[in-house]
Amino acid sequence: MQILENISLQAYNTFGIDQKAKYFVVIKTLEEAQKLVKEPIFLNHKRLILGGGSNILLTEDFDGLVIKNEILGIQKTKETTDHTYLQVGAGVSWHEFVLETIQLGLGGAENMSLIPGTVGAAPMQNIGAYGAELKDIFHELEAVEIATGSVHHFDKDTCEFGYRESIFKHQVKDQYLITGVTFKLSKKPQFNTSYGAISDTLQMMQVAELSLKAISDAVIHIRQSKLPDPKKIGNAGSFFKNPSIPASQFEQLKSTHPNIPGYIQEDGTVKVPAAWLIEQTGWKGKTMGAVGVHVNQPLVLVNYGGGKGREILALSREIQSSVKEQFGVTLNPEVNIY
Ligand code: FAD
Ligand code: NAP
Repeated sequence: MQILENISLQAYNTFGIDQKAKYFVVIKTLEEAQKLVKEPIFLNHKRLILGGGSNILLTEDFDGLVIKNEILGIQKTKETTDHTYLQVGAGVSWHEFVLETIQLGLGGAENMSLIPGTVGAAPMQNIGAYGAELKDIFHELEAVEIATGSVHHFDKDTCEFGYRESIFKHQVKDQYLITGVTFKLSKKPQFNTSYGAISDTLQMMQVAELSLKAISDAVIHIRQSKLPDPKKIGNAGSFFKNPSIPASQFEQLKSTHPNIPGYIQEDGTVKVPAAWLIEQTGWKGKTMGAVGVHVNQPLVLVNYGGGKGREILALSREIQSSVKEQFGVTLNPEVNIY
Protein backbone atom coordinates (compact mmCIF):
# COMPACT_ATOMS: atom_id res chain seq x y z
CA MET A 1 0.00 0.00 0.00
CA GLN A 2 1.57 3.21 -1.13
CA ILE A 3 0.22 6.54 0.10
CA LEU A 4 0.39 9.10 -2.71
CA GLU A 5 0.14 12.85 -2.13
CA ASN A 6 -1.58 15.70 -3.96
CA ILE A 7 -3.28 13.54 -6.58
CA SER A 8 -5.71 14.89 -9.18
CA LEU A 9 -9.06 13.09 -8.94
CA GLN A 10 -10.16 14.07 -12.46
CA ALA A 11 -9.73 10.55 -13.82
CA TYR A 12 -11.44 9.08 -10.76
CA ASN A 13 -14.87 10.72 -11.05
CA THR A 14 -17.22 10.44 -14.02
CA PHE A 15 -18.12 14.15 -13.82
CA GLY A 16 -14.45 14.69 -14.72
CA ILE A 17 -14.07 17.36 -12.03
CA ASP A 18 -10.47 18.37 -11.49
CA GLN A 19 -10.07 18.52 -7.70
CA LYS A 20 -7.15 17.11 -5.76
CA ALA A 21 -6.83 14.61 -2.92
CA LYS A 22 -4.32 15.45 -0.21
CA TYR A 23 -3.58 11.72 0.17
CA PHE A 24 -4.58 8.78 -2.02
CA VAL A 25 -4.20 5.03 -1.51
CA VAL A 26 -5.34 1.91 -3.37
CA ILE A 27 -6.43 -1.19 -1.44
CA LYS A 28 -6.52 -4.58 -3.12
CA THR A 29 -7.37 -7.01 -0.29
CA LEU A 30 -9.49 -7.31 2.84
CA GLU A 31 -6.29 -7.53 4.90
CA GLU A 32 -5.01 -4.24 3.43
CA ALA A 33 -8.32 -2.61 4.36
CA GLN A 34 -8.04 -3.90 7.93
CA LYS A 35 -4.45 -2.69 8.17
CA LEU A 36 -5.22 0.72 6.67
CA VAL A 37 -7.95 1.65 9.14
CA LYS A 38 -5.38 1.41 11.98
CA GLU A 39 -2.76 3.60 10.30
CA PRO A 40 -2.27 7.17 11.65
CA ILE A 41 -2.82 8.67 8.20
CA PHE A 42 -6.28 7.07 8.20
CA LEU A 43 -7.13 7.90 11.80
CA ASN A 44 -5.97 11.52 11.60
CA HIS A 45 -7.71 12.58 8.39
CA LYS A 46 -11.17 12.69 6.92
CA ARG A 47 -11.73 9.87 4.45
CA LEU A 48 -13.48 9.24 1.15
CA ILE A 49 -13.93 5.65 0.03
CA LEU A 50 -13.98 5.59 -3.74
CA GLY A 51 -15.23 3.01 -6.21
CA GLY A 52 -15.73 4.12 -9.80
CA GLY A 53 -16.55 7.72 -8.83
CA SER A 54 -19.81 7.55 -10.82
CA ASN A 55 -22.04 8.83 -8.04
CA ILE A 56 -20.01 11.64 -6.49
CA LEU A 57 -19.67 15.39 -7.02
CA LEU A 58 -16.43 17.00 -5.85
CA THR A 59 -17.01 20.66 -4.97
CA GLU A 60 -13.53 21.31 -3.53
CA ASP A 61 -10.15 19.64 -3.04
CA PHE A 62 -10.42 16.69 -0.67
CA ASP A 63 -8.36 17.62 2.38
CA GLY A 64 -7.94 14.05 3.56
CA LEU A 65 -7.34 10.46 2.43
CA VAL A 66 -9.06 8.98 -0.62
CA ILE A 67 -9.19 5.17 -0.49
CA LYS A 68 -9.67 3.62 -3.92
CA ASN A 69 -11.20 0.17 -3.57
CA GLU A 70 -9.71 -2.36 -6.00
CA ILE A 71 -10.57 -5.61 -4.21
CA LEU A 72 -11.24 -8.06 -7.05
CA GLY A 73 -12.48 -11.64 -7.52
CA ILE A 74 -15.72 -13.51 -8.16
CA GLN A 75 -16.22 -16.86 -6.39
CA LYS A 76 -19.05 -19.33 -6.19
CA THR A 77 -19.64 -19.98 -2.48
CA LYS A 78 -22.82 -22.10 -2.43
CA GLU A 79 -25.27 -23.84 -4.68
CA THR A 80 -28.82 -25.11 -4.10
CA THR A 81 -31.37 -26.58 -6.51
CA ASP A 82 -32.63 -23.11 -7.42
CA HIS A 83 -29.81 -20.68 -6.64
CA THR A 84 -26.11 -20.02 -7.00
CA TYR A 85 -24.34 -17.72 -4.55
CA LEU A 86 -21.48 -15.57 -5.86
CA GLN A 87 -19.12 -13.69 -3.57
CA VAL A 88 -17.81 -10.64 -5.42
CA GLY A 89 -14.94 -8.31 -4.48
CA ALA A 90 -16.06 -4.72 -3.81
CA GLY A 91 -13.73 -3.36 -6.48
CA VAL A 92 -15.15 -5.50 -9.30
CA SER A 93 -16.90 -3.43 -11.96
CA TRP A 94 -20.68 -3.83 -11.60
CA HIS A 95 -21.17 -4.41 -15.32
CA GLU A 96 -18.40 -7.05 -15.43
CA PHE A 97 -20.20 -8.86 -12.63
CA VAL A 98 -23.51 -8.67 -14.55
CA LEU A 99 -21.83 -10.07 -17.67
CA GLU A 100 -20.39 -12.92 -15.58
CA THR A 101 -23.88 -13.83 -14.27
CA ILE A 102 -25.16 -13.93 -17.85
CA GLN A 103 -22.24 -16.10 -18.93
CA LEU A 104 -23.07 -18.50 -16.08
CA GLY A 105 -26.78 -18.52 -17.02
CA LEU A 106 -27.78 -16.99 -13.68
CA GLY A 107 -30.75 -14.63 -13.55
CA GLY A 108 -31.52 -11.48 -11.59
CA ALA A 109 -28.89 -8.91 -12.60
CA GLU A 110 -29.57 -8.63 -16.36
CA ASN A 111 -31.93 -5.61 -16.15
CA MET A 112 -29.15 -3.76 -14.31
CA SER A 113 -26.66 -4.10 -17.18
CA LEU A 114 -24.29 -1.22 -17.86
CA ILE A 115 -24.79 0.63 -14.56
CA PRO A 116 -21.37 2.22 -14.00
CA GLY A 117 -19.33 1.80 -10.84
CA THR A 118 -18.24 -0.97 -8.54
CA VAL A 119 -19.97 -3.82 -6.75
CA GLY A 120 -18.92 -2.38 -3.36
CA ALA A 121 -20.77 0.89 -3.94
CA ALA A 122 -23.92 -0.78 -5.26
CA PRO A 123 -25.49 -1.47 -1.82
CA MET A 124 -24.96 2.15 -0.76
CA GLN A 125 -28.01 3.33 -2.68
CA ASN A 126 -29.51 -0.08 -3.55
CA ILE A 127 -28.86 0.59 -7.24
CA GLY A 128 -31.65 -0.16 -9.64
CA ALA A 129 -32.86 0.09 -13.18
CA TYR A 130 -35.63 -1.22 -15.43
CA GLY A 131 -37.71 -2.66 -12.61
CA ALA A 132 -34.83 -4.47 -10.84
CA GLU A 133 -32.93 -3.49 -7.72
CA LEU A 134 -29.77 -4.77 -6.06
CA LYS A 135 -31.83 -5.93 -3.07
CA ASP A 136 -33.62 -8.49 -5.28
CA ILE A 137 -30.39 -10.49 -5.67
CA PHE A 138 -28.54 -9.43 -2.52
CA HIS A 139 -27.61 -12.10 0.04
CA GLU A 140 -25.10 -10.38 2.35
CA LEU A 141 -22.11 -8.10 2.40
CA GLU A 142 -18.78 -8.04 4.15
CA ALA A 143 -17.42 -4.78 5.54
CA VAL A 144 -14.57 -3.58 7.70
CA GLU A 145 -15.69 -1.48 10.64
CA ILE A 146 -13.63 1.67 10.43
CA ALA A 147 -13.45 2.25 14.20
CA THR A 148 -12.10 -1.21 15.03
CA GLY A 149 -10.84 -2.90 11.85
CA SER A 150 -13.06 -5.90 12.56
CA VAL A 151 -14.99 -7.66 9.81
CA HIS A 152 -18.81 -7.52 9.93
CA HIS A 153 -21.44 -9.23 7.82
CA PHE A 154 -24.73 -7.49 6.97
CA ASP A 155 -27.72 -9.50 5.77
CA LYS A 156 -30.50 -8.02 3.64
CA ASP A 157 -32.71 -6.92 6.55
CA THR A 158 -29.83 -5.23 8.36
CA CYS A 159 -29.01 -3.17 5.26
CA GLU A 160 -32.51 -1.55 5.37
CA PHE A 161 -32.66 -1.17 1.61
CA GLY A 162 -35.17 1.33 0.25
CA TYR A 163 -35.62 3.29 -2.96
CA ARG A 164 -32.00 4.36 -3.67
CA GLU A 165 -31.39 4.07 0.08
CA SER A 166 -29.66 1.87 2.64
CA ILE A 167 -28.41 1.98 6.20
CA PHE A 168 -25.00 3.00 4.82
CA LYS A 169 -26.37 6.41 3.79
CA HIS A 170 -27.94 6.98 7.21
CA GLN A 171 -27.44 5.25 10.60
CA VAL A 172 -23.98 3.83 9.83
CA LYS A 173 -22.85 6.46 7.30
CA ASP A 174 -19.02 6.56 6.98
CA GLN A 175 -18.62 3.76 9.54
CA TYR A 176 -17.89 0.83 7.20
CA LEU A 177 -15.68 0.05 4.24
CA ILE A 178 -17.50 -2.54 2.13
CA THR A 179 -15.06 -5.21 0.94
CA GLY A 180 -17.33 -7.76 -0.77
CA VAL A 181 -20.93 -8.61 -1.61
CA THR A 182 -22.55 -12.04 -1.91
CA PHE A 183 -25.38 -12.36 -4.42
CA LYS A 184 -28.08 -15.02 -4.63
CA LEU A 185 -28.81 -15.61 -8.30
CA SER A 186 -31.48 -17.73 -9.89
CA LYS A 187 -30.70 -20.90 -11.81
CA LYS A 188 -34.24 -20.69 -13.22
CA PRO A 189 -34.42 -17.08 -14.41
CA GLN A 190 -37.71 -15.26 -14.71
CA PHE A 191 -37.47 -12.64 -17.40
CA ASN A 192 -38.79 -9.14 -16.72
CA THR A 193 -39.33 -7.25 -19.95
CA SER A 194 -42.33 -5.19 -18.89
CA TYR A 195 -40.42 -2.05 -17.92
CA GLY A 196 -39.96 0.92 -20.22
CA ALA A 197 -38.69 0.23 -23.71
CA ILE A 198 -37.30 -3.29 -23.11
CA SER A 199 -39.96 -5.27 -24.98
CA ASP A 200 -40.07 -2.80 -27.90
CA THR A 201 -36.29 -2.93 -28.13
CA LEU A 202 -36.28 -6.75 -28.12
CA GLN A 203 -38.76 -6.62 -30.99
CA MET A 204 -36.68 -4.05 -32.83
CA MET A 205 -33.61 -6.29 -32.34
CA GLN A 206 -35.66 -9.18 -33.79
CA VAL A 207 -34.99 -11.43 -30.81
CA ALA A 208 -36.65 -14.76 -31.53
CA GLU A 209 -35.98 -16.44 -28.18
CA LEU A 210 -35.86 -14.57 -24.87
CA SER A 211 -32.64 -15.04 -22.88
CA LEU A 212 -30.60 -13.28 -20.21
CA LYS A 213 -28.20 -12.11 -22.90
CA ALA A 214 -31.01 -10.75 -25.09
CA ILE A 215 -32.42 -8.70 -22.19
CA SER A 216 -28.97 -7.45 -21.25
CA ASP A 217 -28.27 -6.47 -24.86
CA ALA A 218 -31.61 -4.63 -25.06
CA VAL A 219 -30.92 -2.72 -21.83
CA ILE A 220 -27.42 -1.85 -23.06
CA HIS A 221 -28.87 -0.64 -26.34
CA ILE A 222 -31.46 1.59 -24.63
CA ARG A 223 -28.94 3.01 -22.18
CA GLN A 224 -26.39 3.78 -24.88
CA SER A 225 -29.00 5.56 -26.94
CA LYS A 226 -30.49 7.62 -24.07
CA LEU A 227 -27.67 8.41 -21.66
CA PRO A 228 -24.54 10.48 -22.17
CA ASP A 229 -21.35 8.41 -22.04
CA PRO A 230 -19.24 9.78 -19.15
CA LYS A 231 -16.12 9.16 -21.23
CA LYS A 232 -17.41 11.80 -23.66
CA ILE A 233 -19.52 14.12 -21.47
CA GLY A 234 -18.92 14.23 -17.72
CA ASN A 235 -21.95 13.16 -15.67
CA ALA A 236 -22.99 10.99 -12.72
CA GLY A 237 -26.27 9.63 -14.09
CA SER A 238 -29.44 10.88 -12.40
CA PHE A 239 -28.50 13.85 -10.24
CA PHE A 240 -31.75 13.72 -8.22
CA LYS A 241 -33.86 10.88 -6.87
CA ASN A 242 -37.40 10.55 -8.18
CA PRO A 243 -39.55 12.11 -5.44
CA SER A 244 -42.40 10.17 -3.87
CA ILE A 245 -45.25 12.46 -2.86
CA PRO A 246 -48.50 11.91 -0.93
CA ALA A 247 -51.35 10.62 -3.14
CA SER A 248 -53.44 13.70 -2.22
CA GLN A 249 -50.71 16.04 -3.49
CA PHE A 250 -50.44 13.99 -6.67
CA GLU A 251 -54.19 14.29 -7.29
CA GLN A 252 -53.98 18.02 -6.75
CA LEU A 253 -51.10 18.33 -9.24
CA LYS A 254 -53.01 16.20 -11.71
CA SER A 255 -55.86 18.70 -11.72
CA THR A 256 -53.48 21.45 -12.85
CA HIS A 257 -51.10 19.24 -14.89
CA PRO A 258 -53.24 16.42 -16.38
CA ASN A 259 -50.19 14.80 -18.07
CA ILE A 260 -48.12 14.38 -14.91
CA PRO A 261 -46.82 10.79 -14.78
CA GLY A 262 -46.90 8.92 -11.47
CA TYR A 263 -46.30 5.40 -10.14
CA ILE A 264 -48.07 4.27 -6.98
CA GLN A 265 -45.65 2.88 -4.39
CA GLU A 266 -46.22 0.13 -1.82
CA ASP A 267 -46.56 2.73 0.95
CA GLY A 268 -49.35 4.55 -0.93
CA THR A 269 -47.22 7.51 -2.04
CA VAL A 270 -46.78 8.30 -5.72
CA LYS A 271 -43.35 8.35 -7.40
CA VAL A 272 -43.11 11.17 -9.93
CA PRO A 273 -40.29 11.09 -12.50
CA ALA A 274 -37.95 13.97 -11.58
CA ALA A 275 -37.03 14.23 -15.26
CA TRP A 276 -40.61 15.23 -16.13
CA LEU A 277 -40.74 17.86 -13.37
CA ILE A 278 -37.43 19.38 -14.49
CA GLU A 279 -38.47 19.41 -18.14
CA GLN A 280 -41.67 21.31 -17.27
CA THR A 281 -39.63 24.03 -15.57
CA GLY A 282 -37.75 24.62 -18.83
CA TRP A 283 -34.32 23.53 -17.64
CA LYS A 284 -33.85 20.71 -20.17
CA GLY A 285 -30.84 21.39 -22.41
CA LYS A 286 -29.91 24.67 -20.66
CA THR A 287 -26.27 25.47 -19.92
CA MET A 288 -24.58 27.62 -17.29
CA GLY A 289 -21.00 28.13 -18.45
CA ALA A 290 -19.33 24.75 -18.90
CA VAL A 291 -22.05 22.83 -17.09
CA GLY A 292 -25.65 22.14 -17.95
CA VAL A 293 -28.74 19.97 -18.09
CA HIS A 294 -28.52 17.18 -20.65
CA VAL A 295 -30.47 17.82 -23.87
CA ASN A 296 -32.20 14.42 -23.88
CA GLN A 297 -32.33 13.47 -20.21
CA PRO A 298 -32.98 16.46 -17.88
CA LEU A 299 -32.28 14.37 -14.77
CA VAL A 300 -28.64 14.18 -15.83
CA LEU A 301 -26.47 17.23 -15.12
CA VAL A 302 -23.36 17.42 -17.27
CA ASN A 303 -19.88 18.86 -17.37
CA TYR A 304 -19.08 19.78 -20.96
CA GLY A 305 -15.41 20.21 -20.01
CA GLY A 306 -13.58 22.29 -17.45
CA GLY A 307 -16.68 22.78 -15.28
CA LYS A 308 -16.37 23.01 -11.51
CA GLY A 309 -18.22 20.88 -9.00
CA ARG A 310 -19.51 24.02 -7.27
CA GLU A 311 -20.99 25.20 -10.60
CA ILE A 312 -22.88 21.92 -10.91
CA LEU A 313 -24.02 22.26 -7.31
CA ALA A 314 -25.23 25.83 -7.98
CA LEU A 315 -27.11 24.63 -11.08
CA SER A 316 -28.71 21.80 -9.09
CA ARG A 317 -29.94 24.32 -6.51
CA GLU A 318 -31.50 26.50 -9.21
CA ILE A 319 -33.33 23.44 -10.54
CA GLN A 320 -34.50 22.48 -7.05
CA SER A 321 -35.89 26.01 -6.55
CA SER A 322 -37.73 25.99 -9.90
CA VAL A 323 -39.34 22.60 -9.21
CA LYS A 324 -40.29 23.61 -5.68
CA GLU A 325 -41.81 26.87 -6.91
CA GLN A 326 -43.78 25.33 -9.78
CA PHE A 327 -44.90 22.05 -8.17
CA GLY A 328 -44.27 22.35 -4.42
CA VAL A 329 -42.11 19.21 -4.71
CA THR A 330 -38.67 18.86 -3.12
CA LEU A 331 -35.97 17.20 -5.21
CA ASN A 332 -33.19 15.54 -3.22
CA PRO A 333 -29.81 14.74 -4.76
CA GLU A 334 -28.98 11.12 -5.44
CA VAL A 335 -25.35 12.01 -6.07
CA ASN A 336 -23.05 12.15 -3.01
CA ILE A 337 -21.67 15.67 -2.66
CA TYR A 338 -18.18 16.35 -1.23
P1 FAD B 1 -18.62 5.99 -6.10
O1 FAD B 1 -19.17 7.10 -6.92
O2 FAD B 1 -17.17 5.78 -6.12
O3 FAD B 1 -19.12 6.14 -4.60
C1 FAD B 1 -20.46 6.41 -4.31
C2 FAD B 1 -20.65 6.48 -2.78
O4 FAD B 1 -20.43 5.19 -2.21
C3 FAD B 1 -19.63 7.40 -2.12
O5 FAD B 1 -20.28 8.02 -1.03
C4 FAD B 1 -18.55 6.46 -1.64
O6 FAD B 1 -17.83 6.94 -0.51
C5 FAD B 1 -19.34 5.22 -1.28
N1 FAD B 1 -18.59 3.98 -1.49
C6 FAD B 1 -18.09 3.53 -2.66
N2 FAD B 1 -17.50 2.34 -2.49
C7 FAD B 1 -17.62 2.03 -1.17
C8 FAD B 1 -17.20 0.93 -0.38
N3 FAD B 1 -16.53 -0.10 -0.90
N4 FAD B 1 -17.47 0.94 0.95
C9 FAD B 1 -18.14 1.98 1.50
N5 FAD B 1 -18.57 3.05 0.80
C10 FAD B 1 -18.31 3.09 -0.52
N6 FAD B 1 -27.37 4.25 -10.42
C11 FAD B 1 -28.46 3.45 -10.31
O7 FAD B 1 -28.88 3.09 -9.20
N7 FAD B 1 -29.12 3.03 -11.44
C12 FAD B 1 -28.72 3.38 -12.69
O8 FAD B 1 -29.34 2.96 -13.66
C13 FAD B 1 -27.59 4.23 -12.82
N8 FAD B 1 -27.18 4.67 -14.03
C14 FAD B 1 -26.11 5.49 -14.13
C15 FAD B 1 -25.71 5.92 -15.41
C16 FAD B 1 -24.60 6.74 -15.56
C17 FAD B 1 -24.19 7.18 -16.93
C18 FAD B 1 -23.86 7.12 -14.41
C19 FAD B 1 -22.62 7.96 -14.57
C20 FAD B 1 -24.25 6.72 -13.14
C21 FAD B 1 -25.38 5.91 -12.99
N9 FAD B 1 -25.83 5.48 -11.73
C22 FAD B 1 -26.91 4.66 -11.63
C23 FAD B 1 -25.14 5.92 -10.49
C24 FAD B 1 -23.90 5.03 -10.14
O9 FAD B 1 -23.50 4.27 -11.25
C25 FAD B 1 -24.20 4.09 -8.98
O10 FAD B 1 -24.60 4.80 -7.85
C26 FAD B 1 -22.97 3.24 -8.61
O11 FAD B 1 -23.33 2.26 -7.67
C27 FAD B 1 -21.81 4.06 -8.05
O12 FAD B 1 -20.69 3.20 -7.96
P2 FAD B 1 -19.23 3.78 -7.82
O13 FAD B 1 -18.32 2.63 -7.58
O14 FAD B 1 -18.89 4.63 -8.97
O15 FAD B 1 -19.37 4.64 -6.49
P1 NAP C 1 -37.81 5.89 -18.10
O1 NAP C 1 -37.90 4.47 -18.51
O2 NAP C 1 -37.96 6.97 -19.12
O3 NAP C 1 -38.81 6.18 -16.91
C1 NAP C 1 -38.90 7.48 -16.32
C2 NAP C 1 -39.09 7.33 -14.85
O4 NAP C 1 -40.35 6.73 -14.58
C3 NAP C 1 -38.01 6.48 -14.24
O5 NAP C 1 -37.33 7.30 -13.38
C4 NAP C 1 -38.74 5.35 -13.54
O6 NAP C 1 -38.44 5.26 -12.17
C5 NAP C 1 -40.21 5.65 -13.70
N1 NAP C 1 -40.87 4.46 -14.28
C6 NAP C 1 -40.99 4.14 -15.58
N2 NAP C 1 -41.69 3.00 -15.74
C7 NAP C 1 -42.01 2.58 -14.50
C8 NAP C 1 -42.72 1.48 -14.00
N3 NAP C 1 -43.26 0.56 -14.81
N4 NAP C 1 -42.85 1.36 -12.66
C9 NAP C 1 -42.31 2.25 -11.85
N5 NAP C 1 -41.62 3.33 -12.25
C10 NAP C 1 -41.48 3.50 -13.57
O7 NAP C 1 -36.42 6.13 -17.31
P2 NAP C 1 -34.95 6.35 -17.87
O8 NAP C 1 -34.50 7.68 -17.43
O9 NAP C 1 -34.87 5.98 -19.31
O10 NAP C 1 -34.17 5.27 -17.02
C11 NAP C 1 -34.41 3.91 -17.22
C12 NAP C 1 -34.03 3.13 -15.97
O11 NAP C 1 -32.64 3.29 -15.71
C13 NAP C 1 -34.77 3.62 -14.72
O12 NAP C 1 -35.05 2.51 -13.91
C14 NAP C 1 -33.77 4.52 -14.06
O13 NAP C 1 -33.89 4.53 -12.65
C15 NAP C 1 -32.44 3.89 -14.46
N6 NAP C 1 -31.40 4.92 -14.53
C16 NAP C 1 -30.88 5.37 -13.37
C17 NAP C 1 -29.87 6.32 -13.38
C18 NAP C 1 -29.25 6.77 -12.10
O14 NAP C 1 -28.21 7.41 -12.13
N7 NAP C 1 -29.83 6.45 -10.95
C19 NAP C 1 -29.40 6.83 -14.58
C20 NAP C 1 -29.99 6.37 -15.75
C21 NAP C 1 -30.98 5.40 -15.72
P3 NAP C 1 -37.14 4.49 -11.58
O15 NAP C 1 -36.02 5.40 -11.80
O16 NAP C 1 -37.51 4.33 -10.18
O17 NAP C 1 -37.01 3.18 -12.28
